[in-house]
Amino acid sequence: MPKLLMAMDQGTTSSRCVLFDKRLNIVSSAQLEFSQIFPKEGWVEHDALEILQTQMESARQAMAKAGVTGKDIAAIGIANQRETVVVWDKRTGRPISNAIVWQCRRTAEACDELKKAGFAPIAKAKTGLVVDAYFSATKLAWMLENVEGARKLAEEGNALFGTIDSWLIWNMTKGQVHATDYTNASRTMLFNIRELKWDQEILDWLKIPAQMLPEAKPSSHVFGMADLFGTEVPIAGAAGDQQAALFGQCCFTPGEVKNTYGTGCFILMNTGEKAIEPEGGMLTTIAWGLDGKVEYAVEGSVFVAGAAIQWLRDGLSIISQASETDELAQSVENTAGVYMVPAFVGLGAPYWDQYARGIISGITRGANRAHVVRAALESIAYQSYDVIKAMETASGLAAKAIKVDGGASRNNFLMQFQADILGMEVIRADIAESTALGAACLAGLATGVYSSKDEILENRRMAEVFKPKMELEDAERLLAGWKKAVARCLEG
Ligand code: ADP
Repeated sequence: MPKLLMAMDQGTTSSRCVLFDKRLNIVSSAQLEFSQIFPKEGWVEHDALEILQTQMESARQAMAKAGVTGKDIAAIGIANQRETVVVWDKRTGRPISNAIVWQCRRTAEACDELKKAGFAPIAKAKTGLVVDAYFSATKLAWMLENVEGARKLAEEGNALFGTIDSWLIWNMTKGQVHATDYTNASRTMLFNIRELKWDQEILDWLKIPAQMLPEAKPSSHVFGMADLFGTEVPIAGAAGDQQAALFGQCCFTPGEVKNTYGTGCFILMNTGEKAIEPEGGMLTTIAWGLDGKVEYAVEGSVFVAGAAIQWLRDGLSIISQASETDELAQSVENTAGVYMVPAFVGLGAPYWDQYARGIISGITRGANRAHVVRAALESIAYQSYDVIKAMETASGLAAKAIKVDGGASRNNFLMQFQADILGMEVIRADIAESTALGAACLAGLATGVYSSKDEILENRRMAEVFKPKMELEDAERLLAGWKKAVARCLEG
């Protein structure tokens, strides 16, 4: 019996491969960066062939480090950057242009026009999304309009569309399988998340030929056999990176939340078999397709989280590295009334003011560097609090403990403060690789490595639990101060 699970974690800046044993220990990993292409202001592209090449090379390196071959790999699971669009010629396998990356804003105006024409309620009801350039739909429509010969190729049935998971699956199966999973499909703004199919009305709005779309499949499912350097290995799992992280964090029951503290925060709450009506700027999305059914999640994000710490370092130069902030924040008892609202790019849920800008408020003569640093960390927790509360309102579910990962989740002060403000346990996993782990587990379930989600839970070790210690009154007083600070920086 092959022993290992291979996770391909295809991110925005790097392609990683992680090998896990059945107990979910990391056996080896490898990571390669690839080019970020910025042809114009606000435009972001990737070379899909470079993505494929770095992904396969990271797999080769991870296997070499572990001293294993394809025969030792039971299954492959893919977690990938979401929404990014690739179109390729199925006869040659060549992409027709660079991939348009999720961050790319080139279709912002097209989205405004769609909204004016009345598309927003349709998109919201069917896809759970707000009309935004972020999602794949308008990027694909842009390619069909603007890449020479693209529409003709698509109409002839020779152009294939895929998000990065489809692109990898198609290539690894040597063009045998053109498929995606429900989670990736749910981020395209072309997929009906309740009926689980590409939505013809939306395809008509965007003039997208249905024949170029991949087949949408469950996330835990044998998509096909990959040629892994000469050995056939099943590709048995695929999910968008945030959903993979939700799964890797074992947020299996409704109300469980994961928060990834990176540059921004990505927060998802499992809502079970119920796709809630998206409201308050939250998105409704498919959490995974597994065991013959689909479960849903509500998703919200904080734009500036770790980026506020980067600003302390690079903008203010009051710290030299992010990790210093933990001790500095704990060197003072509180922020002495200082609040920072890092609305560098406006404020998201629940305020939705794109013109808001950052402030530091409540400064008195006694305030010093440590207070400001502490206020910056606290702002990450307050913003996460706001999103989680908005999710509770949108879903009608009470959040259970939150499970955390990402670079800034290493900060003990921040995690304790988060637990205190939420009045809820914050659970930090011992393996920071939730995304890769989720992909591996989805693949393990589809191939019988695991018989059930319970078996995964048994193998998942949670390193640290931060229990709320603050008095409720104190938390409420601090939150009231936060709301006041936010009110000061709102424009609208
Ligand atoms: P991303 O995937 O978005 O690049 P990471 O998960 O690698 O982000 O996390 C990096 C972010 O976390 C940076 O913005 C950095 O400022 C912040 N960060 C890293 N370590 C710490 C720490 N110990 N305390 C606070 N913030 C941190």
